[in-house]
Amino acid sequence: MRLRVNIGTSANTLEMSIIYNPQQYKLADKPMENFIDPDEIHEILKSHQNPTLDQVNEVIAKSLQKKRLSLQETAVLVNANESEMVEAIKEAAKQLKEQVYGKRIVLFAPLYIGNLCINDCTYCGFRSSNKKQERLTLGKQDIVDQVTALEDTGHKRLILVYGEHPRYDAKFIAETVKIVYGVKHENGEIRRVNINAAPLEIEGFKTVKEAGIGTYQIFQETYHKPTYEKVHKKGTKKHYDWRVTGLDRAQEAGIDDVGIGALMGLYDWRFEMLGLVRHVNHFEAVYNVGPHTISFPRIQSASGFEVDKRYDVSDADFTKLVAILRLAVPYTGLILTAREPGHIRDEILQYGVSQIDGGTNIEMKGYTSHKEEQDLDHEQFEISDDRSLNEVMEELVDNGYIPSFCTACYRLNRTGEHFMEFSVPGFIKRFCQPNALLTLAEYLEDYAPANTKVKGYELIESSLKDYEDERFKTKLIERLGKIKNGERDLYF
Ligand code: SAM
Ligand code: SF4
Repeated sequence: MRLRVNIGTSANTLEMSIIYNPQQYKLADKPMENFIDPDEIHEILKSHQNPTLDQVNEVIAKSLQKKRLSLQETAVLVNANESEMVEAIKEAAKQLKEQVYGKRIVLFAPLYIGNLCINDCTYCGFRSSNKKQERLTLGKQDIVDQVTALEDTGHKRLILVYGEHPRYDAKFIAETVKIVYGVKHENGEIRRVNINAAPLEIEGFKTVKEAGIGTYQIFQETYHKPTYEKVHKKGTKKHYDWRVTGLDRAQEAGIDDVGIGALMGLYDWRFEMLGLVRHVNHFEAVYNVGPHTISFPRIQSASGFEVDKRYDVSDADFTKLVAILRLAVPYTGLILTAREPGHIRDEILQYGVSQIDGGTNIEMKGYTSHKEEQDLDHEQFEISDDRSLNEVMEELVDNGYIPSFCTACYRLNRTGEHFMEFSVPGFIKRFCQPNALLTLAEYLEDYAPANTKVKGYELIESSLKDYEDERFKTKLIERLGKIKNGERDLYF
């Protein structure tokens, strides 16, 4: 079936068509269908209201034994409102994070490739009805310039972001990924490119996979279908089932590294939490592997859009929901972005966030324009944390976190790395932590101001004390020495 979609002003309507193929819901032998049952979620939330402290503690104890929580158990935590319960949830998340993941935080940056869009998501500055938004698609040289600027600050991992438009088909996405990998400026290079773009057909996902992507992210935005249909009235994105099965098609195409997410603030966050956990269950049941990451962006103001306060997620609920996610899906990476202000980021980092962005600029061509203020007519939404990568790095180091640009697992084909971190004894000590230190040393040598360099090496020195295995420690020190002497890209 071909869907006809309209884009442009009434005076100048550009009509175009994109392929939307319901056959793609079906696989050879099994139907690909919506696996979210809203009645089930509502019922579970309702039947686990007002839990006792004992019930909350029981669920927490299960999570601390490194077991993933059921929908019912997640509902107990979601409905735990008394301050004593919330404190217990946050403390447990901290404990799990420290025991299992240690002090590493992976850093990345978003790069917007194009803001043409046929959809009309009410909350997004790129929606087709927003005539104030200046439309732009980066050409090859533009991408080279943006990536060079990002490499010059020290970035090694990017997420490329696209509106949904016939121009941004799988071939285009694959080409832009290859351009990014090809940019090597001085000691800089991008070693992992993730994607946040519209769902594709299976063939399209195969094309993008061949370009060597890391994670393919698709946020469901809201798992609540009536709300979904209210805020996505036009374009391909209005089809809830097409979107909710998007990452199944990615899996079928061989992309087992996928990221899910919900845009918090469109509907009741409690419902979205269970939707996310249900999505995880679905992947585990069908593909034997959960999603690589979960994102939980809070909705922000955008050009011509003010946040509807009805489903506002307060800071208190937001920090709690992150702690619950850590406990509910302990071996899934959690991504926090610059949508959140510094003080919220600082609190949430303790609960087990594994990746944050740094030095973020979401304006089209923003990494070379160096504007002080955000101009919402050039970007998707408002961000709250506009600190430079080095400022973020320095704050992490000051707080004892080890900033990491590690991409080793992905490049050695060690997929399911969060699962391994979580379940393979010694994995973090043997691989993740030393690789974090090696990539931190690269950053300190190539990009850090003198002050950050001193603090960074102090952190490396004190982290070395954790290594009792002298042979391994010697190897690590040797590699750190090699980095000081100019070698790059060393990892375990
Ligand atoms: N266009 C593709 C899509 O919609 O899936 C991919 C990129 S879209 C630019 C990336 C994400 O930005 C969306 O999935 C949505 O969750 C988020 N987003 C859009 N508007 C937002 C807003 N006002 N505040 C916070 N996040 C927003
Ligand atoms: Fe387009 Fe994505 Fe924005 Fe929706 S969220 S308007 S699909 S860019």
